Amino acid sequence: MTKRNKLEKWQKIFVNRSLNMGNIRAIGFDMDHTLAMYNREAFEALAFRATLQKFIDAGYPSELERLQFKPEFLIRGLLVDMDRGNILKVDGHKYVKTAFHGHTRLDKETRHKLYNSESFKAYEFLSMDSFFALSEVQLFAEIVDYMNSNPGKIQKSFREVYADLRKFIDKSHADGSIKDEVLRNPEKFFIRDKHLATMLIRAMDAGKHLFLLTNSNWPYTDAVMTFLLGEASSDFPDWRQYFRYVIVGSGKPGFFTGSQPFYEVVTQSNLLTAAAASLEQGKIYQGGNAQLLQHLTGFRGDEILYVGDHIYGDIIRSKGSVNWRTLLVVEELEKELLKLEELRPALQSVYTRIGDREVCDEELQILRSKIASNARQAKIATDRGDARKAQHLLAENEKLLEKAHEKQTLLVEIDEQIKQAIAEREANVHPVWGSLMKVGLERSRFANQVESYACIYTSRVSNLRFYSPFKRFTSYHDILPHEV
Ligand SMILES: [Mg+2]
Repeated sequence: MTKRNKLEKWQKIFVNRSLNMGNIRAIGFDMDHTLAMYNREAFEALAFRATLQKFIDAGYPSELERLQFKPEFLIRGLLVDMDRGNILKVDGHKYVKTAFHGHTRLDKETRHKLYNSESFKAYEFLSMDSFFALSEVQLFAEIVDYMNSNPGKIQKSFREVYADLRKFIDKSHADGSIKDEVLRNPEKFFIRDKHLATMLIRAMDAGKHLFLLTNSNWPYTDAVMTFLLGEASSDFPDWRQYFRYVIVGSGKPGFFTGSQPFYEVVTQSNLLTAAAASLEQGKIYQGGNAQLLQHLTGFRGDEILYVGDHIYGDIIRSKGSVNWRTLLVVEELEKELLKLEELRPALQSVYTRIGDREVCDEELQILRSKIASNARQAKIATDRGDARKAQHLLAENEKLLEKAHEKQTLLVEIDEQIKQAIAEREANVHPVWGSLMKVGLERSRFANQVESYACIYTSRVSNLRFYSPFKRFTSYHDILPHEV
């Protein structure tokens, strides 16, 4: 095993809430974007085109065909205001810090008026938690722009267009326009992680029971998992040998709160048998619910670690409803942490300037007090008929005012430099939206959710192999600002 201090930052597992892996008896894995890493650009472009075709088939103007997929425009963690056709980035204190209407940035005043003048209700908006949302919202932004520059050509509100969009995406998934293409050419759409099998085998050898819990259907799951693990290890020629239980079509997040039975999938025909009374290795199940899974397997909720990429579907529900422990895979961290490492000196200089600002501000405050005090004493002196003293004090104040003015100018300058340095740093991470986890120096709404709901998080699932299967992950989060 690699020594931890030699790990690159993106290889590390980060801890929000202490977790003793020794107490974990079963590890469940989501498939899409967790075990299966997608070549996102190829996949999102495909989803974009397939869905766009459905718009045209449904009678939307055929010139929509010219719309372009722009893979770099969006990041996860944004919110969509479907009524106004806007996309928002929100900080951890619910302030909208960046807003776009279609592909056009809203100016500060408009943004403030629309979103920050009264308390912001995130639940009124659509949250872009999943990678699948990226191409969806990108297409929405394209159509918003089209509607603005071609008034009257689409006689619908933005919200109605979004409702159609959802419908067409579901249709593209259901009728195979996306998945068939993916399965015809998996090399194009998936990235094989050569360490995936090693990670799974290490966990199995440590006595953990592994299970797969995915919303994808059986034929898709089988094809993807075969591509990922079919030839990964000669000890396990069939990918199903890695998993004690395989559950497809699980309907998360409903899986964590519902009471649906498990059905066995007859793998040859993809048909279902009657509700299953037990879960057996080597068989494939569909549906089910978390309570029943615990009952049939004998694992308590806190003995199960669930690994997923979807903060709402995989993580909030599994932790909130059944108390499973959670590992969130945040794929973007891999690139972002490398980038942020590069930008560390830039951040240092921001903090240095913030220090300078504090010093300058304090000096300014001292000057201001002195000026006020002199003015007060000058008035008293005048009242007492001591004109000389009053004059002396007022003369001193003139010099002090000049100094204060200089400090004030410097302060504005430093402020501007800080703002500029932060903006440059952000733009280096992503030209439009900055970092996934930050808004300037503050946390983003997304980061707040990661902190609240994921016990531990990392950039890719195979990073688990760097840590002992009995590792105690310790959180230092309970340290308060005054204890640092
Ligand atoms: Mg997933």
